[in-house]
Amino acid sequence: MSWFNMLSNDIGIDLGTANTLVCVRGTGIVLNEPSVVAVEKASRKVLAIGAAAKEMLGRTPGEIEAIRPLKDGVIADFEITEKLLSDFIKRVVRHKYLMKPKIVISVPSGITEVEKRAVRDSAENAGAREVFLLPEPMAAAIGIGLPVESPTGIMIVDIGGGTSEIAVIALNGIVNNTSVRIAGDELNESIVLYLKKNYNLLIGELTAEEVKIKAGSAFPLDKEESIEIKGRDLVAGVPKTMKLSSAQVREAMSEPVDAIVEAIRQSLERTPPELASDILDRGIILTGGGALLRGLDRRIRQETNLPVIVADDPLTCVVRGCGAVLDNMLKYEKVVIRSRRD
Ligand code: ADP
Ligand code: MG
Repeated sequence: MSWFNMLSNDIGIDLGTANTLVCVRGTGIVLNEPSVVAVEKASRKVLAIGAAAKEMLGRTPGEIEAIRPLKDGVIADFEITEKLLSDFIKRVVRHKYLMKPKIVISVPSGITEVEKRAVRDSAENAGAREVFLLPEPMAAAIGIGLPVESPTGIMIVDIGGGTSEIAVIALNGIVNNTSVRIAGDELNESIVLYLKKNYNLLIGELTAEEVKIKAGSAFPLDKEESIEIKGRDLVAGVPKTMKLSSAQVREAMSEPVDAIVEAIRQSLERTPPELASDILDRGIILTGGGALLRGLDRRIRQETNLPVIVADDPLTCVVRGCGAVLDNMLKYEKVVIRSRRD
C-alpha cells in the first residue's frame, strides 16, 4: 500500500434502516451499530447514538425518545439522520487534519432527490471531501463479488429492517427495482400482534425481534422448536411467561412473509425475458438480515421454482460493496452517483 493510501481516511457506509456499518479503506469494517438515536423530547438534545440508543427502544421513560430516522426506507428526520451520520463518521476518521475522507454511502434505492441531497450534505458537514452514493442492491451485488458490469442479469433480494429491495442488475445498472416497506420490522410487529390477539400477551419490539431470530422460520423446520417468552398479561396486568412453538411463530409471521414472496414474484413478471433466463441459471440471491430467517430460501424456491442462494454474511454485503467501490473507483465509476455541492 502506498503512503498516500495509508494516510487516506476513505470510508464506506451502509446507511441501513436497522443497522449502519462503516468500513475504512485498507482496514475493513470498523463500526456496526443500530441506526437508532435517543433524544430528550423537550430539548431535542441527543443522549445516545447506536447500540446504547437501541437498548432504550420501548424502555424509554416519557421524556426520552428512541428514534429510528430511516425506519421506512425514507429519511423521516433529516436532522437526526445527520447527527447519526456525523457521529459515526467522527468515530472512525483518523488523522482528521491530514486529509478529508472520500465517502461512499449506500442508501435505500427508493430515496428521493431531496433525501439524497440531505445524505450528501450530512456527510460533507461531517467532514467528507467528496461523497458518492451507491444504491443498496448494487452495493450488495458488488459486495458479494458479482460481475455487475456483465450483461448477464443478477437478481438481488435485500431484506433489511424497514424495506425489502428487489433488483435486477445488468450492465452496471439496475434494470428493475422494487422497494416494499415490508421487511424485518413487519415480522417483529406481526409477532407482537399475534400474541396480543390470541393470548392477550403484550411484548415489546425488542422481545419480538429476539423471538423471530431464535424461533422464527418461513418453512416448516425439520425439528420444530419452542421458545419461552415474557410479557405483560393484558387482562391481569401482570408479567407473564408463556411457551410458543416455532410453528406458531411461523404462523404469526405468515402475512408479511407471503407479501415479500409475492413482491419477488411480481418483480420476476416484470423482468425482460432474456434477463429472466439468466436468473433461472444463476438464481435469486438473498442479502440483508432478513436473509437469515430460517427456511426463507426454501420458501422462495418453492414459490418461484428458481434456485435461491443466501449470500455469505448477508448483513455485511452492502458495506463490503462500498469498500470494494472505494478500492476501485475507476472500475465502478458508472455505478456511483457522484454528487457535489453545487
Ligand atoms: P437494514 O439494511 O435495513 O439496516 P439489515 O440488513 O441490517 O437491515 O437487517 C436488519 C434486519 O434483519 C432486522 O429486522 C433484524 O431483525 C433482521 N435479522 C437479523 N438477524 C436475523 C435472523 N437470524 N433471522 C431473522 N431476521 C434477522
Ligand atoms: Mg441494508
